[in-house]
Amino acid sequence: MSAVGEILVPVSVPTPFIVGPVNLFLYRGEALTLFDTGPKTEDCETALRELLRAEGVEVRDLERIVLTHHHIDHCGLLHRLVEESGAETWAHPDVVMQSRLGDGEDGDNSRKKYYIALMTELGVPADEQESSMLLWDAYKDMIDHFEIDRVLPDASQIDGFDVYHVPGHSSTDTLFVHRDRGFSIAGDHILERFNPNPLLRRPNPGQTRGKALVEYQASLHRSRALPLGTCYPGHGKPIEDPVHVIDGILKQHDRKNRRILERLPEEGAPPFAVAQILYPELEMPHLYLGLSVATGQLEVLEAAGKLRSEHRDGVLYYQRTEGGMVS
Ligand SMILES: [Zn+2]
Repeated sequence: MSAVGEILVPVSVPTPFIVGPVNLFLYRGEALTLFDTGPKTEDCETALRELLRAEGVEVRDLERIVLTHHHIDHCGLLHRLVEESGAETWAHPDVVMQSRLGDGEDGDNSRKKYYIALMTELGVPADEQESSMLLWDAYKDMIDHFEIDRVLPDASQIDGFDVYHVPGHSSTDTLFVHRDRGFSIAGDHILERFNPNPLLRRPNPGQTRGKALVEYQASLHRSRALPLGTCYPGHGKPIEDPVHVIDGILKQHDRKNRRILERLPEEGAPPFAVAQILYPELEMPHLYLGLSVATGQLEVLEAAGKLRSEHRDGVLYYQRTEGGMVS
């Protein structure tokens, strides 16, 4: 058994999402720790209990649960596991707020209002907006409210790991780099088979929406310089050469940018029209993903001075600048 294998055991549990199984990690450090929990579904819970048992661990033995980010496939089961184990929970300071932004009756209405307004601004026709909201309702049952005992600030440390905030895929993405054992736990910050596209998201109350892909690229450049060693992602196999994978993700962004600059109409277009340029077959349930990708790319191109944006009748249009002309 390798040195890493003695202290870190990947536990892969099923999810109902298109991404497939999610990887959780049993870590035998000072505390018996589980990184992430999986969604609150029966399949996930049963698989988790069986896989832990195969390692000689019961849920009640867990002393600590650490989250890589607030998405349902990574933390839906947290509350249930804590009830049973009394494990101490550690995560990014915004995890609780972000995981609850869509909650409750009031939350539902304010969430719906926020996203409908956002989709209108991004140029989505009214009849397509409703259908993309349906998706959210299906997700609500896969997570229980939870609390966090200890927050993990950027550049903090926990049980052998250095902790880095790497926003992008989500606003709470947290990267754990083990100081002496040559491995890292990356959540969905670095994925090999799936593009960890940042989704359009709702900011914390009182804040404006961040430019998710601009943030993500900055985080990727930061992570690239860290001693990641073997990188354990939230989905898929361990990544032996994370720098290569990071460079591949950045190259993919560049390719999409080129395609947008080549095909964007002279008079400009809103993100929804650009999503259709990138994905001509775009349909629900992928509309939201396509729209997120298009918006992210457009924001990167604007930050690079190749596009400028303006509102026309409440809809955001992007248009090439002199610097964005394709020769
Ligand atoms: Zn995930």
